[in-house]
Amino acid sequence: MVKIVEEVLAANASYAADFGDKGGLPMPPGRHFAILTCMDARLDPAKYAGLAEGDAHVIRNAGGRASDDAIRSLVISHKLLGTQEWFVIHHTDCGMETFTNDVMVDLLNSSLDTATVDASGWHDTGKGPGSPEGRYINWLTIADNPASVLEDVKRIKAHPLVPADIPVYGYIYDCKTGKLLEVPEATAAGKAD
Ligand SMILES: [Zn+2]
Repeated sequence: MVKIVEEVLAANASYAADFGDKGGLPMPPGRHFAILTCMDARLDPAKYAGLAEGDAHVIRNAGGRASDDAIRSLVISHKLLGTQEWFVIHHTDCGMETFTNDVMVDLLNSSLDTATVDASGWHDTGKGPGSPEGRYINWLTIADNPASVLEDVKRIKAHPLVPADIPVYGYIYDCKTGKLLEVPEATAAGKAD
């Protein structure tokens, strides 16, 4: 673990040494948009969407789902910081497609250690004890990728704290090619009124 901390601090030292005039950037995103996307380590929104510091808000969670907390951030992003267009970007091969709420509850009941996965699914091999608390969380898993993008765009658009004139675009990032593939029905559901 110390090795990771050292690596991060060394990387930060070289980043800060080349920081330029970014200390003068204003807080509101200069390009007035926000992206809600998955935390998957293969996704780098700054690269796949061409962002520099100060450009846009990027809200990330497991799956890029429109959870209550993601909506909290989006509402702040518009209401206080002026973003006018939002993207929901899920991706191929998402880990959220590999389990259900029931699977997660069982794994956590068994132990808190990292589970293993094979062709037959997830298995808990930890030493325990686990906890039953997992049942009180909706893990917002994904059964069908375009359907999950559509569901999240619809939820955001229908939210009473989201103004109707914000367009919400639905996309899937292809982990094999790096391309953003539109989910047309999601973008249609997300059009500004
Ligand atoms: Zn994912």
